[in-house]
Amino acid sequence: GLKHIHAIAPYVGGRPISEVAREYGLDESKIVKLASNENPLGMPKSAQEAMLKAASDLGRYPDSNGFELKNVLSARLGVPTDWITLGNGSNDILELAARAVAQSGDEIIFSKHAFAVYPLATQAVGAKAVEVAATNDYGHDLPAMLEAVKASGDKAKLVFVANPNNPTGSYLTAKEIEEFLMALPSHVVVVLDEAYNEYLTPEQRYDAISWVKRFPNMILSRSFSKAYGLAGLRIGYGVAQPALTDLLNRIRQPFNVNSLAQAAAIAAFQDSDFLQQGFELNRAGFAQLTQAFDELSLTYLPSAGNFVLVKVGDDDGAGARINLELLKRGIIVRPVGNYGLPQWLRISIGLPEENATFINALKDILAHQ
Ligand code: PMP
Repeated sequence: GLKHIHAIAPYVGGRPISEVAREYGLDESKIVKLASNENPLGMPKSAQEAMLKAASDLGRYPDSNGFELKNVLSARLGVPTDWITLGNGSNDILELAARAVAQSGDEIIFSKHAFAVYPLATQAVGAKAVEVAATNDYGHDLPAMLEAVKASGDKAKLVFVANPNNPTGSYLTAKEIEEFLMALPSHVVVVLDEAYNEYLTPEQRYDAISWVKRFPNMILSRSFSKAYGLAGLRIGYGVAQPALTDLLNRIRQPFNVNSLAQAAAIAAFQDSDFLQQGFELNRAGFAQLTQAFDELSLTYLPSAGNFVLVKVGDDDGAGARINLELLKRGIIVRPVGNYGLPQWLRISIGLPEENATFINALKDILAHQ
């Protein structure tokens, strides 16, 4: 049999609202879901309108090459359209990267506490996952990841780097990333996963496209699921030089991104007001949550994304225990035991009233345990 497939632990996402309502006998409309790093503003109106317009033409296949969306992306990013790959979510780009460059006997390198799809994509192609110890503050240790590449001989084919990372929210500076890119052997491909890029502050931002232009072994991955509010439509994109982009496009499904998603993404990408509103809401929500954590003397990590990791106890049962109590009160967050963080919970930053509902429930739970 295919042992490497049987060895895969299935991805566990945020629990759906209807399922939690049914299980705990709750009213769906009262449930607060802060579990999947979704945009609390929902989908932009502009994208909804564009999507509904596109819905009149669903008898046709989607544009397999995403002509219009790629043109919009190309104009803004400053790369030709043949540098862009569209994905069914940016997860698709991560998987395509693994399938394009690695197979059984190869190694794929990523950090401990990094996004769960990296090990999945690795195991699915039969490659060996090399998990590199994180820094003391739960971030990627890029020098150690470079060591792992070098130690692999020529087995390492791919490195996943998330900036910011989920679930830790850890952030790497431009200098750290650039040094890593310069030192990485050119036969090893690196995916820079920027699913949460739009949440970086102006001071944290850097020009990743200039690296794509310099490094032919780099794939930049971005998502429409978070800041652009299109998680349910499944759309993301990769940017890489044409030779690498060509590989990804050869192995993707011909119609991997549906028409509604393409139309919505074109509108959302140009909706700078929506992006700005979401950014500000996220900063305010982070302050609201972390102020409450301070009051409760809870440790949390300084997230650069739209979520925050908070330590809810000192024993390895803490995350699961508090998560269950929150579920009973109709609040869905994300336990992160599968990330090696069983004492922590990941809270997606919501609307002010959603954050407040969560905070009040957490206070109540901690006071009565
Ligand atoms: N990368 C990271 C770091 C993520 O957290 C996620 C979503 N949880 C993704 C990629 C994939 O997002 P999507 O497929 O919705 O674009």
